[in-house]
Amino acid sequence: MVSRVVFGRGSFSQLEDIIAPKRLSSIAPFIFLVDDVFEKNTALTSRIPLGYDDKIIFISAEEEPKTSQVDALVEEIIVTSKQRPSGIIGIGGGTVMDMAKAVAIMITNDGEAKDYQGWDLVKNPAIYHVGIPTISGTGAEVSRTTVLTGPEKKLGINSDYTPFDQVILDPELTKGVPKDQWFYTGMDCFIHCVESLKGTYLNAFSESYGEKAYELCYELFLDNNLSEEEGQDKLMMASWHGGMSIAYSQVGVAHAMSYGLGYLLGTKHGIGNCIVFDHLEEFYPEGVRVFKEMKAKHEIQLPQGLCTHLSDTEFDTMIDVALSLGPLWENALGKEWKKIMTRQKLRDLYSKM
Ligand code: NAD
Ligand code: ZN
Repeated sequence: MVSRVVFGRGSFSQLEDIIAPKRLSSIAPFIFLVDDVFEKNTALTSRIPLGYDDKIIFISAEEEPKTSQVDALVEEIIVTSKQRPSGIIGIGGGTVMDMAKAVAIMITNDGEAKDYQGWDLVKNPAIYHVGIPTISGTGAEVSRTTVLTGPEKKLGINSDYTPFDQVILDPELTKGVPKDQWFYTGMDCFIHCVESLKGTYLNAFSESYGEKAYELCYELFLDNNLSEEEGQDKLMMASWHGGMSIAYSQVGVAHAMSYGLGYLLGTKHGIGNCIVFDHLEEFYPEGVRVFKEMKAKHEIQLPQGLCTHLSDTEFDTMIDVALSLGPLWENALGKEWKKIMTRQKLRDLYSKM
C-alpha cells in the first residue's frame, strides 16, 4: 500500500516540505515527470519546487506508456544525473503516474522494463517515488501495478515495490480536464468497482472499498446537486477507493477485452473500457444499465465500428492478448472460464464494437 498520503484542495503546495527531507545530496536530483498538457501552464509548473540539479521532463499522454519509452527515459536520467536521483515525482494522469512508477523501479533494477512485466518479478526496491494525479479514475495513484505495453504484451509490473511512497491528492489540479476525458477516466473507476464487486475473487476488504467507490460514482455522475468542487473531491476519493478495491481482487471482462483493443488499435484505457463495457450486459446487467444512464446524462457519444474492417489475423491478435489475462477471466467467470469465454465468443463480442 501507499505509505503516505495527503488530501485537500491546495495540498500541492506542500510538495516542497514533503520531499525536502528525502533529498539524498545536492547532486542527487528530484526528477519531475509532468504531463505535457501543463507545459504551457505556468500556473502549475511555477509551483514545482525545483532546487539544485532537479529537472522537469514533460511526458506526452498521447500514447500509453511503452516499455521502450521507460528504458529510454531511465537511460536519459542516469546519463544526465551526477548521482542516482533522490526521487521521481509523477504529475499527471494514469499515463504519467505509471511512467513514474516504472522509471523509479528501473533505476534500481537491471535489464529492460519488459523483463519485469508480470507478477512479483522486481528484485530491488525502487527509488523514492511520489504520485500526484491531475485527473481522477484510474486508481494508478494507489495500485501496485504500472501498466506497460511491451513488444509482446500489454501487462503491468505488479510488485510490492511498485506503489508510490507518497501521494498528494489535490482535487484542484483536476480543474482543466476536458469533459469527455473526465467521463472516460471516471468510468474506469466505475468499471473497476463493478468488476471487483461482481467478481469471484471478492472479499470483505475489496468489497468495502468497492462499495464506497461505487456509491461515490453513482452520486457524482447521476446527482444534479453537486457543485463542481464537490464532484472533483468525490471523484478523487472514488478513484482511490476503486484502486484499493481491485488491489485485493481483480478486474474482469471489460479490462481483459480493452487490453486487446489497446494492444492492437492503440485505443486508450478509459475510452476502451467504455466501448467494451457498453456491450457487456450479459456479464454485468445492472452495471451496464447504470453506465448507459450515465452516458446518456452526460451526452457522451462512443465511437462505433472499431472492429468492422479487421482481418482474421487482427482479431486473433486481440483475442490472444485478451485471453492471456487469466486472472481477470477467472475473477469474472470462475475457474471454468475457458469453457465460457471461447475464442468465437470473444470474436462475436469484439465484432459488435
Ligand atoms: P491519461 O493519463 O492518458 O490522460 C488523459 C488525457 O487527459 C491526456 O490527454 C492528458 O494530457 C489529459 N490531462 C490529464 N490531466 C489533465 C488536466 N488536469 N487538465 C487537462 N488535461 C489533463 O489518462 P488516464 O485515464 O488517467 O490514464 C490512462 C492510463 O492509466 C493508461 O495507460 C492505463 O493503462 C493506466 N492505468 C493504470 C492503472 C494502474 O493501476 N496502474 C489503472 C488503470 C489505468
Ligand atoms: Zn482500469
